[in-house]
Amino acid sequence: MTVVSTDRLIAPHGGTLVDRTGERPEGVDALEHLTLTSRELSDLDMIASGALSPLEGFMGRAEYERVIEGMHLPSGLPWALPVCLAVDTAPAGDQVALADESGRPVAALEVDEVYEYDKEREAELCFRTTDEAHPGVARLYGQKPLYLAGRVIVFERAQPGFPEIARDPAETRRIFAERGWRRVVGFQTRNPIHRAHEYLTKVALETVDGLLVHPLVGDTKSDDVPVDVRVDCYRTLLDGYYPENRVLLSAFPAAMRYAGPREAIWHAICRKNYGCSHFIVGRDHAGVGDYYGTYDAQLIFDEFEPHELDVEPMFFEHTFWCNVCGSMASTKSCPHGPEDRVFLSGTKVREMLSAGDVPPVEFTRPEVANVLIDAYRS
Ligand SMILES: [Zn+2]
Repeated sequence: MTVVSTDRLIAPHGGTLVDRTGERPEGVDALEHLTLTSRELSDLDMIASGALSPLEGFMGRAEYERVIEGMHLPSGLPWALPVCLAVDTAPAGDQVALADESGRPVAALEVDEVYEYDKEREAELCFRTTDEAHPGVARLYGQKPLYLAGRVIVFERAQPGFPEIARDPAETRRIFAERGWRRVVGFQTRNPIHRAHEYLTKVALETVDGLLVHPLVGDTKSDDVPVDVRVDCYRTLLDGYYPENRVLLSAFPAAMRYAGPREAIWHAICRKNYGCSHFIVGRDHAGVGDYYGTYDAQLIFDEFEPHELDVEPMFFEHTFWCNVCGSMASTKSCPHGPEDRVFLSGTKVREMLSAGDVPPVEFTRPEVANVLIDAYRS
């Protein structure tokens, strides 16, 4: 096997791709077991794979404080969201086993410190709201009262929901290098891709070597389109409308936090670890309800020094089909009015699909609509 150098790709955050996978330590079954939530398990798996490089474990107090107050790690590297493990009480030993939801140990954690945290303060700083109706805030308020910090060794990786598109950062990097890509744009999504997002991924792709379509497959809100349906939609769209050698579909195993602007930064940093030099940030990225301003997730990138993040954000406006232009466009590129644009509200689209009606081809590809119609029927 020839080894292709990944040196020409963007460096991981902090310079080195972390690998916290390892052998099952002896005596792990005898250790105190802590059962993780699904969000904590997805963070754990992302620490193991290096997707959260440079993190090697759950955050200690110094890291937590710097991150929530100033969006940096103590080392000076940018970092936008806490990656913490909540517990009821301090463990007795200096090592604990971390168990999945079935109680099976999957990792060991070297206990570094246990500390108190203020949920309202974390909510205000990270989510910009303390409203319990916000799904990320509700999850935070439901957490156990202490944070347990320490480095981890993961000896049993999580079973991916979609093994054929599950790829660790080391693997996406290898594939990019094999394909000769150097500049790669990452696209985060938790929705089916309609014409608007197809357009902006293609506009981005025109300026770089490759596109990573990186749907989030961890926990989302229950009213988001189920992940298996979305994956069908992505495959159908990519098969029909993207050149195979310019695009890679891969799963992003994170859980949604719905932290809007801060999550946009966090998403960009994670994709840098996967080898993306560029990252698409649309309007209201990772937002929910009307907690964030339309452009907040773009404006937050200005709070960092130029090149501090290294990964280059690509900002996009809302896009649509314009009947006069005869093409996809945005208010940045089309001078015509709303009456010339094909616009369908999310509610209208759901109504059409559940009635078995295919929305206009200017809004969505018919093949994608059919996948969604089938899903609504079953
Ligand atoms: Zn126009």
